[in-house]
Amino acid sequence: MRRTERYEETHTGEIEMMKSDKNICELEELEAMGLLTSEETERLRGVTERHPMSVTPYYLSLIDWSDPYDPIRKMAIPSEGEFSPVGSYDTSGERENTKLPGLQHKYAKTALVLVTSRCPVYCRHCFRKRLVGLPSKEILHRFEDAATYIAEHSEINNVLLSGGDPLVLPTNSIAFFLETLDRIAHLDYIRIGTRVPVVLPDRIIEDGDLLDLFRRYSRPQRRLYVVTQFNHPREITEQSTAAIDALIRSGVVISNQAVLLRGVNDDSDVLADLQRGLVRIGVNPYYVFQCRPVRRVQTTFQISLGRAYRIIEQAKARLDGHSKQFRFVMSHRTGKIEIVGVRNDEIYLRYHQAKNPDDIGRFFVRRLPPGAGWLHDLGDTPEGTGVPRLDRKRDAEAELPGTQAEDPSHTVQ
Ligand code: SF4
Repeated sequence: MRRTERYEETHTGEIEMMKSDKNICELEELEAMGLLTSEETERLRGVTERHPMSVTPYYLSLIDWSDPYDPIRKMAIPSEGEFSPVGSYDTSGERENTKLPGLQHKYAKTALVLVTSRCPVYCRHCFRKRLVGLPSKEILHRFEDAATYIAEHSEINNVLLSGGDPLVLPTNSIAFFLETLDRIAHLDYIRIGTRVPVVLPDRIIEDGDLLDLFRRYSRPQRRLYVVTQFNHPREITEQSTAAIDALIRSGVVISNQAVLLRGVNDDSDVLADLQRGLVRIGVNPYYVFQCRPVRRVQTTFQISLGRAYRIIEQAKARLDGHSKQFRFVMSHRTGKIEIVGVRNDEIYLRYHQAKNPDDIGRFFVRRLPPGAGWLHDLGDTPEGTGVPRLDRKRDAEAELPGTQAEDPSHTVQ
């Protein structure tokens, strides 16, 4: 009972922490700094009323305001592209994989726990745009409920703590999560998905208790993983490098999931520099994700699969084996689909991970129309490939549930 109270306290603590971080949450603050015009403030209010803005002073300091196309600015500051209703709020089928509020179980071996809807920065490209920074019923209420589900499912060998960003929570809440999960013997490892090293590195560098905690739960027999999201080489700074170093010294294994984003890293030199820089500081490149067709994101950030594949291959040509170990995937409702090749108007794909275990490893070919950005945009399997014919009906059916997921049109609180 006491533990439940402790977790409830975290939400209060979390809000206090966000306030004390002096985040920039109002467009007027940017206007007062001379960074937005009054016209821009007025126009963008319609965006932030729907999807809140929050930027740490540190991340704001990385923006080159003399460049209207600055990549850091594009990831952090709202733009008019967010008025576009094209896309879906639930591209990965998160609702249908939710077993209890805040716990998703899509892949047999992995439990995904959403412990908060808050983040230090509300990335404009976020695929959980439907909930970040907003009151949401999709967030876990009692960590014990998630732990009970995980303990009862012995096929689960790893847990991903996500949100929102778990590291905005007070250290004692994170301690409670790790302590609880540590008692489940069938878990091989625990991951924390976070952008804190990228957007608020001092949270890590200055919190000795957090680092002690990681040291305690990242043991030789069972490691703790931190999965970051560096998307641009300019995010690799002295401070973020120090945060990564502190994590490494506390025994944590670090990997990175980047998202391929138009105007941010859709350039083979930029992408190669990013992966090289990450390896240099001790971060393992894990995935590069095709930008999902998320409503109020797709129009601004997604590039076509054909172009994306060329950028990835050109970047890989500049990289050594370790820095190009990442896979380029679509995180689709049916699974993680690796884009393994493009030839003329054909695209070659393989399920790296799948909701239906029978799909794992399945290789397939589709027609690639110009401009196609997602599986549901692809054509039928071409004749004469020798690959079992699969038409688009299956994808179309997979896309249907949740495609029109509720628009968080309420006013941001
Ligand atoms: S930190 Fe992660 S969850 Fe939060 S807004 Fe950015 S991408 Fe989304």
